[in-house]
Amino acid sequence: MLPHHAIHLYGLIRNQWKNPETIKKIQERKLRKLIHYVYENVPYYRNLFDSLKIKPFDIRKKEDLQFLPLTSKRQLQGLPLKDITSNALRLEICKTFYTSGTTGIPMQLYYDPHDVTLMNLSWVRAFLAGGMKPWHKLADFKGMKTLHRKKAWYEYLGLLRRREISAWDAEEKWIEEIRKWKPQVLIGYVRTLRMLAEAVQRSGIKEFKPKIIFHSSAILDEATRRLFSEVFQGKRVDIYGSYEGGCLAWECEICSGYHLCSDMVIVEVLNQGKPVAPGETGEVVITNLQSYAMPFIRYKQEDQVTLSGQEPRCGRGLELLDSIHGRTDDFITLQNGQRISPQPFLYLMEKISGIRQWRAIQEKMNELNVEIEPSELSHESLTLIKESLKGLLGSEMNIHFILVDSIKVDPPSKFRFVSSKINRS
Ligand SMILES: [Zn+2]
Repeated sequence: MLPHHAIHLYGLIRNQWKNPETIKKIQERKLRKLIHYVYENVPYYRNLFDSLKIKPFDIRKKEDLQFLPLTSKRQLQGLPLKDITSNALRLEICKTFYTSGTTGIPMQLYYDPHDVTLMNLSWVRAFLAGGMKPWHKLADFKGMKTLHRKKAWYEYLGLLRRREISAWDAEEKWIEEIRKWKPQVLIGYVRTLRMLAEAVQRSGIKEFKPKIIFHSSAILDEATRRLFSEVFQGKRVDIYGSYEGGCLAWECEICSGYHLCSDMVIVEVLNQGKPVAPGETGEVVITNLQSYAMPFIRYKQEDQVTLSGQEPRCGRGLELLDSIHGRTDDFITLQNGQRISPQPFLYLMEKISGIRQWRAIQEKMNELNVEIEPSELSHESLTLIKESLKGLLGSEMNIHFILVDSIKVDPPSKFRFVSSKINRS
């Protein structure tokens, strides 16, 4: 972080306290600049605009974005790199990232170094808002095998010290890292942190008491919630982000919702292409205002969230999400088109004893496989699960139980309790 980085961070921290109208103006100014830029420099968007007879000045605010069609990851992957990246930037100087392969298809992303800096600072703002102090040490559990180990200059001053740990490493390695690094702040997917908590319990470390845990992939079952409060004891803050959009939102304890990073990214919540009303659930579509090298404009994030109907109470002007439900394909689709969120599955399965781990996968419209790692599962429990699931999903759903010794997922961070293959086809 060079002096100008500190200025950017200060600017972002200040933005969150501005009133919604001022934040909207910041958003619109950034949107207009990005739209003009992509029209001039990115063939995919230029062609899109031209084919619809839209000029850059037609897109001036969030509401104008509806004139543009949505873009999916699959669409971008089907196009040559030169069409979806800026002709005005040399890609060699860009930083590259790979999106996680939850859809099974990883994609390489390019970011201009300046955009990367701002996106990182946006994460820092969320961490600070969540209670992290600049002098805290942070252990960041990453879903990738190769890690970033270069320290920034401010880390030598004892500020924002961060150490990446791979979720792919053995748990003994995690424990060793934790013992050496002694972080006050943890960040990672729920599943990874749960495995860490179990490993900490087994190893009998007593002195490890992180102050804050930032977890993403919001769905927390009761057992994990209990385990976290037993082992970590610190405060839990849910954060929501992606490689394509950076930090999208973070949980605010005063507002009991998530503040969107509206000055960095435009988040639209749509149901069948139309914006949902406050309190309603829909799919997330993002426009990353700092994505100049490989722009994401009306990009389908493939997550489901509920918009909040509340005004912020903490004094921040950043709009609120009520809840984050996970990926679109974590929802089970019924024959009548109704979609069931993973949350009721968690409530339902929590009541059943004798299960160490479980996972439900919708294979076809009327086929649901439930994998179970039993501890002492009785026949009555299985019948109870089946009846409860039929109650939730309807009698036409055929439910198959598969008892396994252990549910394996690679990488471990990608575990999902509920998933559906219907949406992917
Ligand atoms: Zn708040």
